[in-house]
Amino acid sequence: MSQDVYEVNLFIDGSEVRPSTGEYQSRYDPGDNSRLIGRVADGSKDVGAAIDAARDAFDRNKGSWVSDHRLRARVLMKAAEIIRERAEELARMESLFAGKTIRTSRLGDIPRTIEMLEYYAGMADKVLGHSQILRTGDLSVLVRQPIGVVAAITPWNFPLLILARQTAPALAVGCTVVAKPASYTPATALELAKILAKAGAPAGVFNVVTGKGEAIGSQLLRSGKVDVVNFTGETSTGKWIMQNASASLKRVVLELGGKNPNIVFDDADLETAANGVTYGAFANNGESCAAGSRLLVHRDVKEKFVRMVAERISRIRVGYQLRDESDLGPLVSQSHMEKVLEYIGAAESEGLKIVAGGRRVYGGDFSKGNYVQPTLIDDTPQSSRLFKEEIFGPVLTVTEFGSEEEAVELANATVYGLAAGVWSRDSSKAVRVAERVKAGCVWINTYYTLPVEHPWGGFKESGLGRNNSVLAIEHYLEWKGLYLDAQPGKMKPYYRLVLGD
Ligand code: NAD
Repeated sequence: MSQDVYEVNLFIDGSEVRPSTGEYQSRYDPGDNSRLIGRVADGSKDVGAAIDAARDAFDRNKGSWVSDHRLRARVLMKAAEIIRERAEELARMESLFAGKTIRTSRLGDIPRTIEMLEYYAGMADKVLGHSQILRTGDLSVLVRQPIGVVAAITPWNFPLLILARQTAPALAVGCTVVAKPASYTPATALELAKILAKAGAPAGVFNVVTGKGEAIGSQLLRSGKVDVVNFTGETSTGKWIMQNASASLKRVVLELGGKNPNIVFDDADLETAANGVTYGAFANNGESCAAGSRLLVHRDVKEKFVRMVAERISRIRVGYQLRDESDLGPLVSQSHMEKVLEYIGAAESEGLKIVAGGRRVYGGDFSKGNYVQPTLIDDTPQSSRLFKEEIFGPVLTVTEFGSEEEAVELANATVYGLAAGVWSRDSSKAVRVAERVKAGCVWINTYYTLPVEHPWGGFKESGLGRNNSVLAIEHYLEWKGLYLDAQPGKMKPYYRLVLGD
């Protein structure tokens, strides 16, 4: 167990700085709430300085950041290389603060962060426009320019990865950034800022302000110097962001909540599906927008399939996040654990059948942390809160269906539309269902496979816009039309409307 206490400062205009407030917020280990692991700067008085640094770097093309696409590609590649060298250290920091298991950080968060940086490094010099010779012979050229300053507001469940996902495409096309990481998990954001600076990013290109969500967020949103807000977090916060961004008509990208269905048909390969469904529900402690938290299963195989999933759940080892053998770590905070336990309590009050788990994990060191058993709840009706609301923890509900039509109806019966899974050996049925499910990503016979090339974002109240893939750079670019006269000097017939004959 690491004994480090991290001091998480701000990063403004190329340097790590202490907050003007002089205040720090304490952060405790999710696996042991009595152990201090971090002191996090309250940057609420430094937001303006961070925005000014980013604005200045962009407007004055500091270090040729905006104009030199090769420089940007080199910086992103170099940053990826540094992260690769420091992978184990960063994985431990991420897991310590977030409560995610160390194997999740090692196999998921860190390599996927590297992938983000390398992928968008490759796009830095491939931002193309359009051109057309008009019938007059004049030339219309559409160029794409970086939009300016991007505010990235990120959640605690994939702290470094989501920050990289939101900012690598912005940096690749020449924007500058003010990042506001989640208060629980800010340490790797500061590290990313230092890594980018070491990799050659000019001062002001990447700034980090830590502190409370609304205090920092409202300043970023109110500022006329910020052009885009890319937010990942709860749907309710996303709505607040959108309302507040409207004052200056900022462009808004929103990656919000999910209540994702995993639809298992009776003709599915049940062994494979049971593995995918269990993984999809409990990966990252179930604290994932992409969690397949609703199992919809065909009536004819339901009993058998629920037994198969329950058996897999019984093998999940709950444990301290930095232990190699842990499959499920502590939840991020005590209050979040209480929220998850309240949902399980609601299931009990609704008379639902808890097939596996259903309790906080107590005893020995477990009592000090935010551990919840992986939980499976059977026969969850559409009317239940557990069917409709995002729990964001290790809780999987089961609902049966009798027909393809009913499966689609149940899948679409929440306000969310982020992701879904369809399991069937009949590929035309699987594609038919995938087409009708309202979700930004539908996995067929797999779950939670999300390489950078694949777009990510939601339908309905799961968000606006797409991160990942070639689509992500669109948010950070403005189109500009350049018009070139092929016959300069001549009097145009329409000039005569004003100038006369
Ligand atoms: P959250 O909405 O509480 O916080 C997200 C970020 O917003 C944090 O940095 C927080 O400090 C900040 N914030 C909070 N209130 C704010 C305000 N009024 N103004 C500006 N910023 C504010 O979300 P969370 O608890 O950190 O993360 C969990 C949520 O994120 C879940 O709903 C999950 O589904 C969602 N999420 C979505 C995706 C996706 O890709 N769609 C990915 C990860 C998480």
